[in-house]
Amino acid sequence: MNKAKVYFYNNIKDYKTGFNKFLKIISDEMKPEDKTAIKIHFGAKNNDTHVNPKYLIDLPKYIKNPVFIESNCLYPGNRHRSDSHIKLALEHGFDFLEIDILDGELGRDYDEIDINTKNIKKAKISSGLKQYNNLIAISHFKGTPGHGFGGAIKNLAMGIASRAGKMDMHSGLAPKVNDEKCTACGDCVENCIADAITLNEFAFINQEKCIGCAFCISVCPERAIMAQFGKRRGKEFLETLIEYAYAVTKGRNWWYINAINNITETCDCMPYKQVPFMDDIGLVYSKDLIAIDQASIDLVVEKNNGVDPFKKPDVSTNYVLKYGEKLGLGTTEYELINID
Ligand code: SF4
Ligand code: SF4
Repeated sequence: MNKAKVYFYNNIKDYKTGFNKFLKIISDEMKPEDKTAIKIHFGAKNNDTHVNPKYLIDLPKYIKNPVFIESNCLYPGNRHRSDSHIKLALEHGFDFLEIDILDGELGRDYDEIDINTKNIKKAKISSGLKQYNNLIAISHFKGTPGHGFGGAIKNLAMGIASRAGKMDMHSGLAPKVNDEKCTACGDCVENCIADAITLNEFAFINQEKCIGCAFCISVCPERAIMAQFGKRRGKEFLETLIEYAYAVTKGRNWWYINAINNITETCDCMPYKQVPFMDDIGLVYSKDLIAIDQASIDLVVEKNNGVDPFKKPDVSTNYVLKYGEKLGLGTTEYELINID
């Protein structure tokens, strides 16, 4: 495979200009469609190290009809349902473009996409994705629990999988009821399309009958139902992330910008203020999903005196990128091109 081109902008005092330079390159490459999706993470409540929307204010000057896209998250909180998710996005300054939450008001709308990969046969992808052919992923590069680093791959995979898809990646199992929180209201029983929940003193989920749709998580008023986080670990967890990225990119035109700034140990899903542990590096742009994350981690390691700050005992940066390469999502070989 030929080397991918990764463009690097390192003026950390003027990110807006850097984004505009990359958006200009993308607009020259893009065959315009009715609208263009901008995949972004709005940041959890109290998080302020996500991509700063002020840097993106010129998006409409370069891209035809840009729309911010996102999907609801798996666990309870402000980003669990579309109305509160959009409210939070507006509070965080993402108020200058339309916002499209792709998996519906309750995070229930998804399409199953046949991928037949090692761990995932059918990926559960937010159904709104099918409206878009042109998509730009703008990703904050930082650490993340479970995956080591979080960049473009994670923004696509966890970010566009439906709630059911997110649960699939995290556990591959049915959710569980917390007896201490359950009030036996029965809402989950009524909404389970698989008749997998029975109600006695508390709700109980039959693990054999459950089809993993995650509807019950969204309807429980007591937030008593949770995914079994951590059941997929190590290589299997990394592989499922790549496999979902494969489903999301299949047949679509994607462009990727990573912001390697405000580099924190963990991700923007954490509902608290975080302190970056190293200096900013800049922005990178590429048309290649694997190359952009490979270049981003290489730049971080170089700046961090040769040490990968996101490495964990059961997480290998190299493994996840090589697995992505094996699935045909891009290449780890790239040429870094500096732009002013
Ligand atoms: S995840 Fe879906 S199928 Fe499983 S118990 Fe909940 S509502 Fe029922
Ligand atoms: S919806 Fe929640 S509170 Fe109500 S029965 Fe189900 S688990 Fe219990």
